[in-house]
Amino acid sequence: MGLFDRIRRAFTGEDAVVKEEEVKKEDQIVIDSYDQGTAKTRRNFTDIMTNLFTSFREVDEEFYEDLEEAFIGADVGFAMTIAITDAIRDEIERTGVHKPEDVKRVLLEKMVQVYERGGQNLVSLKENPDGPTVILFVGVNGVGKTTSVGKIGYQLKQEGHKVLMAAADTFRAGAVEQLNVWGERLDIPVVTGKAQGDPAAVVYDAVKKANAEGYDYLLVDTAGRLQTKANLMEELAKIKRIIERENPNGVQEVLLALDATTGQNALIQAKQFNEATEITGLVLTKLDGTAKGGVVLSIRYELDIPVKYIGLGEKATDLKKFDAEAYMYSLVKDVLEVKH
Ligand code: GDP
Repeated sequence: MGLFDRIRRAFTGEDAVVKEEEVKKEDQIVIDSYDQGTAKTRRNFTDIMTNLFTSFREVDEEFYEDLEEAFIGADVGFAMTIAITDAIRDEIERTGVHKPEDVKRVLLEKMVQVYERGGQNLVSLKENPDGPTVILFVGVNGVGKTTSVGKIGYQLKQEGHKVLMAAADTFRAGAVEQLNVWGERLDIPVVTGKAQGDPAAVVYDAVKKANAEGYDYLLVDTAGRLQTKANLMEELAKIKRIIERENPNGVQEVLLALDATTGQNALIQAKQFNEATEITGLVLTKLDGTAKGGVVLSIRYELDIPVKYIGLGEKATDLKKFDAEAYMYSLVKDVLEVKH
């Protein structure tokens, strides 16, 4: 039984044998961190939803309209909102459920299903079987890109991997120094070059070192951002060529850092970056600081790029692999707990 099933059964009382305490300890840790990190979005969502369910009499058009309003209010985005509401409507009509507990269960189930669209394992990083796994990080200034490089480095190191970081964001004042501080704090070596120097030179040194010294992961903090799309494409193509020369399997992941507090603007940035280079995954930062956490669903739906990590605070430990079930659950949990 997956996390979602265990939680659902425990909370809906569908299976009296499965109690809340039986939710596994490690699942509980995930749930707790998501709980804290998504508090603002949840509050926003819960306020509207609680009204919806307290005055709940039957599933009618007004119910669906209020439901849509709750999703839009959490920045789930128009297209995704319609998709989820339609899926909920279909399921309710198909099964004829009408008790609020059942309606809530359908709600949670459909949010996860519509997000997962087929449900492959979307979160794992693609690995290089023949050498260091190379991950490029891109994103506009201030979204939390460099911080995310540090946090992911920390997580990979905790998992027992040998990690190297490359400070190839030589344009933003302070970025190299910032990554150095992370490196010192986490005891992860950082390859640096001259300030304002050529990022390609840093990448060249880093990939050589990663190969020669048997590193498992090379995390590259690039200056990849949108001066112009042509610039960005050129710069990333150059970095990729250098890596491919030394490392025939090239780059395994290009992760775009997006600031969740910017809501639908994050979606626009994702679209623009994806036109310039193939983005393989997203790091959605600062979810702890926004009530618009529904943007996770929106981006996935519109661009079909998976969210791989979410940032839930500023500490090294405040970055989590994205778990759709735990995330959706954290958004709706207070609504599930309203008694009827
Ligand atoms: P960059 O310009 O994209 O490299 O951005 P930085 O990594 O320098 O981050 C900008 C600011 O956002 C810093 O103050 C970080 O501490 C903060 N930050 C990054 N990720 C998160 C997060 O998940 N939550 C919160 N609350 N702050 C974050």
